[in-house]
Amino acid sequence: MPRISRALAPALALLCCATACGGGEGTTQAATPGNKPAPAAAAPAKPSPTSAPTLPPGKAGAAPLFSHGRRDHGKHIALTFDADMTSDQGPRAARGEHFDNPALIATLRRLKVPATLFMTGRWAEQYPDQARSIGADPLFEVANHSYSHHAFATPCYGLPPVKGGARADVEKAFAAFRRAGVERTVPYFRFPGGCHNPSVLRELGPAKVTAVQWDVISGDAFAKRPGPVADEVLAKARPGSVVVMHCTRSAAPATEAAVRTIVPRLRERGYEFVRVSDLIAGG
Ligand SMILES: [Zn+2]
Repeated sequence: MPRISRALAPALALLCCATACGGGEGTTQAATPGNKPAPAAAAPAKPSPTSAPTLPPGKAGAAPLFSHGRRDHGKHIALTFDADMTSDQGPRAARGEHFDNPALIATLRRLKVPATLFMTGRWAEQYPDQARSIGADPLFEVANHSYSHHAFATPCYGLPPVKGGARADVEKAFAAFRRAGVERTVPYFRFPGGCHNPSVLRELGPAKVTAVQWDVISGDAFAKRPGPVADEVLAKARPGSVVVMHCTRSAAPATEAAVRTIVPRLRERGYEFVRVSDLIAGG
């Protein structure tokens, strides 16, 4: 793993620390701040109705963790894209920074690649038309990447601790999806920066989400050239893999071009692209 400079660390964390985290296990760090349960009035929202499969809860009802599918059940692979925008980045969007990536979505559609989008609630507020369009497309499924993209366990690459409780932040994102008119959300949650610990998994138990990590880090965060991103994915992909990439063109500008290389090469090797829900359904 490259050493992360102090200056770069917060920016990396905004992108799920895809170049920094230790893969599917994420990080288990010091005690989670804000362990108080969310007040009932602030958390009325439940995930939208869905038939998506989930894993059984962990110990004491904790949210279960999923990092990859079965290795012996066909050559299935899930590309996942984190649509990152933090609750603090509105002013940057107002100044013209693009946290979306319409060309990437168009390429996935053109190549008919099913995919799972882990979207922040703030992203859905900024780009409601795109959020709705992605959610209405049977090729895709919209999963939860928190509302704020703040840290759910600290330290987490300089991200500020989530305010108001982890569960409330997750439910706030589902509420933002509903307000944007997003159909077919799935009850999957990806921790910002991948940072989690047993305490926050217990806190998220009542939210009935499956926490989804990854086993292949594409390295697309801040990559300027698509070649190394594609090479990394092609080198690390295995049956059942969950690949983490980003749908945020300002900070992951090479992703769309990398996908154009990755998709045909993996298909040549006999891989079929599926969504996270398909991997979970496969056991
Ligand atoms: Zn992220």
